[in-house]
Amino acid sequence: VVQNQIIDGKAIASSIRNELKQILARRNEQRKPGLAVLLVGDDPASQFYVQRKRDACHEIGINSFQTILEANITKEKLIEEIEKYNLDDNVDGILLQLPLPKTLEAQTQEIIDHINPAKDVDGLTSYNLGQLLVRSAQTIYPCTPKACIELLKHQEVILKGKKILVIGRSTLVGMPLALILNQYDATVTMAHSKTLNLKKEVSQADIVIAAIGVPEFIEGSWLKPNAVVIDVGINAILKNSSKRLVGDVEFKSALNVASLITPVPGGVGPMTVAMLLSNTVELWQRKF
Ligand code: NAP
Repeated sequence: VVQNQIIDGKAIASSIRNELKQILARRNEQRKPGLAVLLVGDDPASQFYVQRKRDACHEIGINSFQTILEANITKEKLIEEIEKYNLDDNVDGILLQLPLPKTLEAQTQEIIDHINPAKDVDGLTSYNLGQLLVRSAQTIYPCTPKACIELLKHQEVILKGKKILVIGRSTLVGMPLALILNQYDATVTMAHSKTLNLKKEVSQADIVIAAIGVPEFIEGSWLKPNAVVIDVGINAILKNSSKRLVGDVEFKSALNVASLITPVPGGVGPMTVAMLLSNTVELWQRKF
């Protein structure tokens, strides 16, 4: 029986924020957790996400620190700013908002690797990605992959033995997500822009997770009946001369075939912010 159920990421994220708020209120420590966000340049989408993160920190009782830097900042100056937060005892988590401006983009990993791994709240340093690979208990899951996993867990979707197709292999989303799903005993296939016959791969998957950044690319007719769909994509498009956000999956047609599906907006996005808060609290707790 097809359930055609929409996964309410907004509501699930809100309940996680409430839980975190209660944990922090109960702990009543001298020092609140602190999250530092560095934003380079003036990309409106990035500015919006950084504001969201700041608001979420305030809501639950995390101190938020913010550094906004010119798009033309040098790599060395940016690293200096990161290192200030490495030394600041009030900061438990450091997040570099991505993507970096074009001039720095190729050096993203090198720059991230200057974040102290103990404060690497998005788990994206080479060290923490390595910890993920070797299944260390100390690892911090990157926020977006963790958001996908938590949404599936919340819906009680069984991962063990399932055929899961992850489309996209970025260091930020697809690659760590595929590693984590492997640890949950799923049979994971990774697809990317060079994959031949993506349609066929999609049709064979019990769970499809799309993280490609191409608006409404995956059509409902490609899906296996009753498939679970997690749509990570956030793409701004113009429709009837007004701006709209859509995912990588054509939501309307997919809803007819999928048993469960995340909407865009209101799916993975708010959960990613909730996971950022949860990782911040986790890093803070490790200090006691
Ligand atoms: P990215 O670094 O640009 O990576 C995109 C990946 O998709 C690459 O691996 C690329 O393949 C693959 N790809 C591109 N076109 C494809 C196609 N036509 N068919 C199959 N694979 C294709 O992007 P990202 O940072 O992973 O982000 C992906 C999407 O998720 C974006 O829309 C982004 O806005 C969104 N996002 C959402 C959140 C959230 O909180 N919800 C967080 C982060 C990102 P190659 O490796 O072969 O180039």
